[in-house]
Amino acid sequence: MIVVLKNGISDSAKNNVTGFLSSKGFQVREIVGEEDTVFGAVGSVLIDYREVEVLPGVDRVIPITKPYKMASREFHPRDTVVSIGPVKIGGSRIAAIAGPCAVESRQQILDCAWAVKEAGAVMLRGGAYKPRTSPYAFQGLGVEGLKYLREAGDTTGLPVVSEVVSPSVVEEMSRYVHAFQIGTRNMQNFELLKTVGSTGMPVILKRGMAATIEEWLMAAEYLLSSGTDNVILCERGIRTFGRATRNTLDISAIPVVRELSHLPIIVDPSHATGLRDKVPPMALASIAAGAHGLIVEVHTNPDKSFSDGPQSLWPQQFEKLLRDVEALCPTVDREMARLPERHQEEVLRSHLGNSKNGEKPRVAFQGERGAYSERAILNYFPEGEVKPMPLPGFSDIFATVLSGDASWGMVPIENSLAGSVLENYDLLTRHPDVKIVGEIKVRIRHNLIVIPGTVESGITKVYSHPQALSQCAEYISKKAWEAVPYFDTAGAAAMVAREKDPTIAAIASAAAAEYHKMEILAEDIETNPRNYTRFAVIALSDTGEPENADKASFTFSIKSHPGSLADCLEVLKEYGVDMTKLESRPIAGQPWSYMFYVDVLLPENPAVFKKAEAAFRDAAEEYRNLGIYRSS
Ligand code: PEP
Ligand code: MN
Repeated sequence: MIVVLKNGISDSAKNNVTGFLSSKGFQVREIVGEEDTVFGAVGSVLIDYREVEVLPGVDRVIPITKPYKMASREFHPRDTVVSIGPVKIGGSRIAAIAGPCAVESRQQILDCAWAVKEAGAVMLRGGAYKPRTSPYAFQGLGVEGLKYLREAGDTTGLPVVSEVVSPSVVEEMSRYVHAFQIGTRNMQNFELLKTVGSTGMPVILKRGMAATIEEWLMAAEYLLSSGTDNVILCERGIRTFGRATRNTLDISAIPVVRELSHLPIIVDPSHATGLRDKVPPMALASIAAGAHGLIVEVHTNPDKSFSDGPQSLWPQQFEKLLRDVEALCPTVDREMARLPERHQEEVLRSHLGNSKNGEKPRVAFQGERGAYSERAILNYFPEGEVKPMPLPGFSDIFATVLSGDASWGMVPIENSLAGSVLENYDLLTRHPDVKIVGEIKVRIRHNLIVIPGTVESGITKVYSHPQALSQCAEYISKKAWEAVPYFDTAGAAAMVAREKDPTIAAIASAAAAEYHKMEILAEDIETNPRNYTRFAVIALSDTGEPENADKASFTFSIKSHPGSLADCLEVLKEYGVDMTKLESRPIAGQPWSYMFYVDVLLPENPAVFKKAEAAFRDAAEEYRNLGIYRSS
């Protein structure tokens, strides 16, 4: 059952509730949500719920209707994000785990680790105990393999996962791996599940090849109830009559599981298909279906692989796959999980160090909670590490960053349909102490949002930012509604929530609807689904440049002689600097004079850009570097 506590319940009343539940034989877990705190209580005991409901400080009791309790969404309505070292799996990120089927030698796992790391994997896999169909096939290197795996992980900075096949090795394995993998053949090995769960360590639980989704979630329940909170489900294909592939990847399991459970779900397209060329399409389909990540077999020489060579990708194929996944990300409102770069981690830590009483560093944005800028913040920064800070205007973002009240700001720079957000270009040029330290693209998906119970036929007016209204013009034109401009999208949702008027609606993000507990009557109502906004992440200019920067932005004005603009651009050509954007803006106070805003891709050798900048300074009247950063 879920015991919802009253707001402001005292500690002694809380202790009283847990004491009561424990005395009845329940296992109790406190779950702190954004709005309320609940106790999840599970156990094989029957109790009259009213006995709990009458305890001081208890608001209400909700029974869990599913046979699995801790794994159910009823128990934990929000998505669980599992941390494995620096890697977070679940939520808005897509994590790529990769490596060979088995650890074959020290050199082989080191080579594979570097290859998958360079391609963008955030975690290394490799079997040391191989549950092979034939007793004569390679069985794995055992503990020696685990040592090599861990060494390869430590060398490359990748946390490692390996399959555990017997309760007797759990203790020893726990010294080498960051996460356990339970294989398909052991999904219902309950003694193994209990022993692994009792370590409290993260577990990747593969679906049994003939298991129903309910049986799979019951297996997760074994892990959760024996002591770990960190379970990741992994769909790896099931047995069907089809023989064209090794197994049949049950892609529909992804949305089904996401509805039933809060646990993250990843997909293993390698064991699902058994065929190298079928791995990338199924991996992409899995991401489109809502998976939180992939676990892929990659080998530096698949032809020589001791096991599963035909399904192992070459490193180049894996790299291409991750680039394709990355291209898909904005369409599904996701970001690739990355290992925190040393630079970013240091910056984050220094901000954490400076913050008062251990508060999270703040990131300023314009608008109300649920604004698209807030989505950009949640996608850009590591899960749960920063606090979005809503502000009324764009200039407030700059002021707040300058005063140090916020460590970063998230400012929209351009929209793929509406063009540049000129106000922010001007603010960037006006604030030389602020610079661009990163960027991110977010897909803009508009929704029709109403107070719960509203019927479409009763709506007479729809409120939103003028840009959102025009982006949904086709949808609105089919209704006899008055479109009313409002200062921002999330603000319109907040206003409709406040007014509680069933004749009005707002157009805003799904997050705005969730934040205000509103209902979405229609999803994705924008005329053109290719609607993306690019945001710049700004910070004080002493933050330093990221190591893997590949983009720069700058502004310049030109000398007053014929061909002076051409002279400047000639410099970029001469040094092979690729210009991706050029925009002119009037110079404040100098009618009919212009400055230019430029984005460029950095040449391979950073020294070349420094030389180009020096030449550019000579050719231009004024030059200012706005930031060197990693492109999105
Ligand atoms: C593996 O990942 O190496 C493996 C054996 O997978 P499964 O248990 O899904 O067959
Ligand atoms: Mn394998």
